[in-house]
Amino acid sequence: TGVIRFEDVAFHYDHDRPILRGISFEVPAGATVAIVGPSGAGKSTISRLLFRFYDATSGRVTIDGQDLRDVTQASVRAAIGMVPQDTVLFNETIAYNIRYGRPDASDEEVREAARMAQIGDFIASLPKGFDTEVGERGLKLSGGEKQRVAIARTILKAPPILILDEATSALDTHTEREIQSALDQVSRNRTTLVIAHRLSTVVNARIILVLEKGRIVERGTHAELLAMD
Ligand code: ADP
Ligand code: ADP
Repeated sequence: TGVIRFEDVAFHYDHDRPILRGISFEVPAGATVAIVGPSGAGKSTISRLLFRFYDATSGRVTIDGQDLRDVTQASVRAAIGMVPQDTVLFNETIAYNIRYGRPDASDEEVREAARMAQIGDFIASLPKGFDTEVGERGLKLSGGEKQRVAIARTILKAPPILILDEATSALDTHTEREIQSALDQVSRNRTTLVIAHRLSTVVNARIILVLEKGRIVERGTHAELLAMD
C-alpha cells in the first residue's frame, strides 16, 4: 500500500491563474519522491492535493487506485503522516507529543521512535526523563528538532505515506543531515515518502520531480539529473 498516482492534474486556487498543469507521476509503494523547484512553483500545492486539503481542478489523484474524491478527507488523512514546515507542538512533554495520535503506544515504542528520528539522545538528556515541559516554560526547540519530533510521531503511527513539506525552511547542514538520517529510517519502514523541496536532503530519493511554474520540467534520479547539466 501507499501507491500514489497523479494523472494529468491541473489546479487553480482562483479562476484566472492556473497553479498546476499537466502533472502526471507515479510513486511505487515504499519509494521516495522528491519534488524540488523554485519558490512558488507549486510544490506545497501538490502536498496539499495529496492530503486532500484541496481537490484537483481536473485530472485525478489516487492512492492505491482510489480516487481521493471518492474517499473521506478523514480517511485520506489517516493514511498520511504530514510533517509540516512549522511543526506546532503541544505544551507537554516530548514523549506526549510523540505519542499523540497513538495513545496506546508503550514507553519503549516511544523511545524507539525518538531514537529512529535522531532525538533519542536529546530526550534522554532531559531532567527526569520525559518529565520536562516544552514551550514557554521549558525547553526551547529549534525548527529542526520540532520537525524530528513530528517525524518520530509519524514513525510511531506508521502511516503508509509520509509527506514532508520543507518549503522555505533553511536548515543548517548538521540539522539537515540528522533529518536525512531520520528519513532513511522512515523509508526502511516501507513508507512511501513525499518530500517537497530541498535538493540536498533528497539524495536517496528514487524519483526527483523538478517543478517550474506548475509544470514538471525534469524528472529522474539524483545522478541522472546531475548528469543532465
Ligand atoms: P511552492 O511550494 O513551490 O513554493 P506553492 O505550492 O506554495 O509553491 O505555491 C504555488 C503558487 O500558488 C504560488 O504562486 C502561490 O502564490 C500560489 N498560492 C499558494 N497558496 C495559495 C492560496 N491559498 N491562494 C491563492 N494562491 C496561492
Ligand atoms: P489529528 O488531529 O487526529 O492529528 P488531522 O487530520 O487534523 O488529525 O492531522 C493529522 C496531521 O496533519 C497533524 O500532524 C496535523 O498537524 C497535520 N495537518 C492537519 N491539517 C493540515 C493541513 N491543512 N495542512 C497541513 N497539515 C495539516
